[in-house]
Amino acid sequence: MPELPEVETVRRRLEPVLVGRRLDRVEIVDPRLTRPEDPLEVAAELSGERVEAVDRRGKYLIVRFESCRALLVHLRMTGSLLHADELSEDPHRRATAELDDGSYLAYRDVRRFGTWLLAEPGEAEPYLDARLGREPLVGSFTTKRLGEALAGRRAPVKAAILDQRRLAGVGNIYADEALWRARIHPQKPAGELDEDELKALHRGVRAALNAGIARQGATLRDYRTPDGGSGRMQHEFKVYGREGEPCERCGRPIEKTRAAGRGTWFCPGCQQWPHTADN
Ligand SMILES: [Zn+2]
Repeated sequence: MPELPEVETVRRRLEPVLVGRRLDRVEIVDPRLTRPEDPLEVAAELSGERVEAVDRRGKYLIVRFESCRALLVHLRMTGSLLHADELSEDPHRRATAELDDGSYLAYRDVRRFGTWLLAEPGEAEPYLDARLGREPLVGSFTTKRLGEALAGRRAPVKAAILDQRRLAGVGNIYADEALWRARIHPQKPAGELDEDELKALHRGVRAALNAGIARQGATLRDYRTPDGGSGRMQHEFKVYGREGEPCERCGRPIEKTRAAGRGTWFCPGCQQWPHTADN
């Protein structure tokens, strides 16, 4: 499912084609997308809005309008946005916006967990701030800030970095990749990381996310870039989904376990905790 690198890829692709454009005609055909709001009403409100900016916060895509309203899009499991001059039939399309240059923005979602929320002026930031912690790629996100987010937490470090209220945008894939880069076992309690481990995790989170962005995200099932293409990050995973394959650092086979209730991949050689992996 889309995490920060996938949503950031979508943002970068949509920004040049959406900014300055007006949504001429918006159609929302799935009431789940906007509930509890009426999809007909939301579509009517969106029609005529002109796009001023396309931002991202965590895994949210934010389409800001000149009216100071904002559309907060969360792709959840299988949502994707397509920008095209023509649209072919698609039974999983949930919404369409015709732009004033004749092109289309289409929203597709097989499992229908995605959401569109139209925020009135001044509503978007409080809504997002209540749900999201720090952005891991901004300059002000330092090792110290990461340490503050994890301090005193007895939960496994994987659960802590998946918690969107602590760290925004990291999901199951990039959590495993970041912990491998940092050589930290996913089950180690978050509050027990020492200074060196926090530094390594800070570097690991950023490196894993930036690697994903550089490859346009990871396409496992439904994720597509807005031009219909696939990401390439799935070919570059260090541990995610690689059970039994050798670790590229130490050669030990990657293992799969469960942490934070999620399938979790790690290297028993270079991510030891407690230090008993070789007994
Ligand atoms: Zn290893």
